[in-house]
Amino acid sequence: MAIIDIKTKNTWSAKAKRTVTSLLPVDKSRKGKCSRCGACCKLPNPCPFLGIDDQGLSTCKVYWLRPLNCRKYPRTKSELITADTCGHSFDKTKD
Ligand code: SF4
Repeated sequence: MAIIDIKTKNTWSAKAKRTVTSLLPVDKSRKGKCSRCGACCKLPNPCPFLGIDDQGLSTCKVYWLRPLNCRKYPRTKSELITADTCGHSFDKTKD
């Protein structure tokens, strides 16, 4: 299911939507924390500012300047298309 999601939802229009809606608050049902897997930094293509530290974890070369859609990903349950590796999850009873 997650593989289908990422194939069908990993689009530039999805990124544009995340960018526009990034002004909205993060859904209160979001749990967990970023595990620095880097998957969201490759939506829809690998970000040129994506790096890897000496422990193999993803790092952002412009961390303090990164845009809101990066800061807030995944802002909502429907945005989360990297659930296989993302450290965040959402309450299953909400959308
Ligand atoms: S997909 Fe989730 S865990 Fe991975 S870098 Fe993005 S926010 Fe962090």
